[in-house]
Amino acid sequence: MQLSKFGTKFTGVSATVSLMDDLGEALNVNPDLLFMGGGNPAAIPAAEAIYQQALQKIASNPNTLRKVLGTYQSPQGDPVLLRDLASYLNRQLGWSLTAANIAIANGSQSAFSLLFNMFAGEYAQGLNKKVELPLVPEYIGYADLGFATDFFTANKPTIELIDDHCFKYHVDFDRLAVDQHSGLLCISRPTNPTGNVLTDTEVEQLASLAEQHNVPLMIDGAYGLPFPNIVFTEAKPYWSDNTIVVSSLSKLGLPGVRTGIVIAHPDIIDAFTQANTILNLACGNIGPALLRELLVDEQITRLCNTVIRPYYQTSVNQACQWVAEAFVELPYHYHKPEGAFFLWLWFKDLPIPSRELYQRLKARGLLVLAGEDFFVGLVQDGSDQDWPHQRECIRLTYCQEPAVVKQGIELIADEVRAIYQQ
Ligand code: PLP
Repeated sequence: MQLSKFGTKFTGVSATVSLMDDLGEALNVNPDLLFMGGGNPAAIPAAEAIYQQALQKIASNPNTLRKVLGTYQSPQGDPVLLRDLASYLNRQLGWSLTAANIAIANGSQSAFSLLFNMFAGEYAQGLNKKVELPLVPEYIGYADLGFATDFFTANKPTIELIDDHCFKYHVDFDRLAVDQHSGLLCISRPTNPTGNVLTDTEVEQLASLAEQHNVPLMIDGAYGLPFPNIVFTEAKPYWSDNTIVVSSLSKLGLPGVRTGIVIAHPDIIDAFTQANTILNLACGNIGPALLRELLVDEQITRLCNTVIRPYYQTSVNQACQWVAEAFVELPYHYHKPEGAFFLWLWFKDLPIPSRELYQRLKARGLLVLAGEDFFVGLVQDGSDQDWPHQRECIRLTYCQEPAVVKQGIELIADEVRAIYQQ
């Protein structure tokens, strides 16, 4: 098969595709694998019951059902949903949005691919602009989204040691260079893979840098505000005319509906809508219809605050306790879990790269993610190859049954102990 440069790039080795292959195998084909890999949300029965009720309501009304199954959605999204969502966000977060600030996407991943390539890549004047990641490790799913090569610049973090085992990454503003080559700044908050929540001061400083250089700041809120709000620490939601907030229904427990939400200045929304319509014609209707139901009487806020966040808070506390018990006497650190549903473990001076640790764990029936691939932008930049930290970390999710999480943590401890002893 002969392929164009585009075809070759998008059929090459991809960490995103490997991750989703592992996920598909563990969740759909081989249920005996202990799955602590990709970012599938947990199955939370109380949330599932609410979705079932909402779907039944939609299905039981022939007019609504016809609209959901038999009609293309308007290019920007269902106008009633856009209006309801804008007023929900204004009430809940004190923003001042109108429907013109919001567009619907087929999942936030597809929104990133368009927005990244709209702001980074080759410009008319021959200038090549990049997506700038002010703090890596960052979401693996960004890594292959550029239609151009050499698409990212990334900034190593500073590391704050909080106690003997806990640490937190911070943006290293002394090294961060925003300039004429920056097309877009992008952070996930909470961050996948670390569970970091950038502080309010960090976000304000990034927003002000972005504004000074006339580039947008994208905040990927897949795990944060407005929903599912899996945040365990104090953090203010940030919004300005120069910010693009991208949200998703996936981490509410609805990855199957493939619904993303872009919140931005109306000019950006218009541009995004045009590009999205060219590529997708229209977005799926089921997610937006469900969201309309969930917004009634702020049901979604109660769901996030009384069901979803407490579920993950309990799970992470439990997982940290198991880590402390199983990893005794190992030189381990974990990133302070401030949100999302991951544990990011750092094994200082690990004698093998984390990709090899991933392979060894996989051979024993446990799926995790190797840390290397999350240093998006650094790995492609030869000057940073010598930073050992990026080969000393792994990411786990704690979204499975408690017995699976405990067994997985014990297995990692066993393997890592053997590696240090060798
Ligand atoms: N952003 C982050 C940080 C993620 O972890 C994910 C998925 O794992 C996404 C965005 C993509 O979510 P979706 O395309 O399902 O909306």
